[in-house]
Amino acid sequence: MYCINCGVKLADTEKACPLCGTVPFHPDIPRVQTERLYPENRLPVTQMSRVGVLIAVTTAFLLSMLIPLLCDLQLNGGMTWSGYVLGALLVAYEICVLPLWFKKPNPVIFVPCGFVMVGLYLLYINLVTGGDWFLSFAFPVVGFACVLVTTVVTLARYVHRGWLYIFGGAAIAAGAFAPVMEFLLNFTFGFPHRLVWSVYPLVALVLIGAMLIFLAICRPARESMERKFFI
Ligand SMILES: [Zn+2]
Repeated sequence: MYCINCGVKLADTEKACPLCGTVPFHPDIPRVQTERLYPENRLPVTQMSRVGVLIAVTTAFLLSMLIPLLCDLQLNGGMTWSGYVLGALLVAYEICVLPLWFKKPNPVIFVPCGFVMVGLYLLYINLVTGGDWFLSFAFPVVGFACVLVTTVVTLARYVHRGWLYIFGGAAIAAGAFAPVMEFLLNFTFGFPHRLVWSVYPLVALVLIGAMLIFLAICRPARESMERKFFI
């Protein structure tokens, strides 16, 4: 016989599906004792030392920072291009590896920290290249993204309901920021002051956000969507 829920093949003696736990019952099949189709327990997962892996990854990061720095110092007598490599690697490490050192990394703390690192990296590039785009473009864009993503992550973590409102609101906020971003871009880099591309993300994101909020408000529509997508 087969599980009516997930379709996996079951021995006639099976009292519950080993995959999904559904209790099988077939009135025509008498329960006779046969051999089990699947082992009682899942195969043991090989445990790898978390700290060992993290130390190896950290060492790899340190080496990949040290080698470009030494090459740069040797060839150019100072830190020229290696600063970009170091900065990018530091940002990647802070975002991808640093949270793993903690047992239960709190995204409400690590997400803004990641944005701060990205902001500092951009500030470094701006200062080294002598550009003047950080304050008028990079800072507001990264700052807005930081506030938006941190708000979504905080709400999703501490308010365990209303996902549709949270993501709908976030989509609308992101869409509304698109014209601001285009304005800042034009203002900073001296492009003609016309809004060209930002209308498309604005319309698309506001529509997506409005649809999510509509689904949040209208229960029958939400249930029909859930049935359609097997949620
Ligand atoms: Zn099943």
